[in-house]
Amino acid sequence: MFMFLFFICLNLNPYKNIFTSVNCWKGSNHMSNNTVPYVFCPVCAERLQKSIIDNHLRSSCPNCSYVDWGNFSLGVGGVLWHEEKVLLVQRAHNPGKGVWTIPGGYVNQGESIGEAIVREIQEETGIETKPLSIIALRDRPSNSPSEKHDVYIIFMMTMLGGTLHAQLEEVSNLGFFTLEECQTFKIPSLTLSAIQASHSISRGLVLNTNADLIGRLSTLYQISS
Ligand SMILES: [Zn+2]
Repeated sequence: MFMFLFFICLNLNPYKNIFTSVNCWKGSNHMSNNTVPYVFCPVCAERLQKSIIDNHLRSSCPNCSYVDWGNFSLGVGGVLWHEEKVLLVQRAHNPGKGVWTIPGGYVNQGESIGEAIVREIQEETGIETKPLSIIALRDRPSNSPSEKHDVYIIFMMTMLGGTLHAQLEEVSNLGFFTLEECQTFKIPSLTLSAIQASHSISRGLVLNTNADLIGRLSTLYQISS
């Protein structure tokens, strides 16, 4: 209750993130899109100073080369169709308790987006999958220093194996449902839009493993010819 009142006082609606954003609800730090700008340098602890860098007012450190380039979060969701039904999970806890959505979560540091969605689906549902393509991307910038710039990527997945098994801490119910059934659920419009768009067409950005990329962990998704 305290946290709820806290959000209301800040005029930051925590439910806005749940119904329009990434399907992340693992731990309190993943329940909202809120952040706090740095006051002191995270590298050397010197107090940061405001100055114009690249035509934008930014905090930078007068002692070392650190510049606060912004605060971003990256999440993924996965649409998995199987025998004309799509995999959905129902949130076990507030915020958003009872809402149905596609499985997903935040990308870990050092983890590729493809690895992240495979891991999230396996953790939440017990189903082993493989990404086919990227079918949607939701971008949510913010001018407020107290909100992260949030990007959410939705994959089309294919099933490899496993059996349905809900991760009890996060998922109260799960299953495969027809499009008609999905439309009767309490479901975020972003999720329903991705499900509807992917029902008949599965094209999207696909992994190009032939590109010579800079960075050992780099991957490239692009349109296919
Ligand atoms: Zn510094």
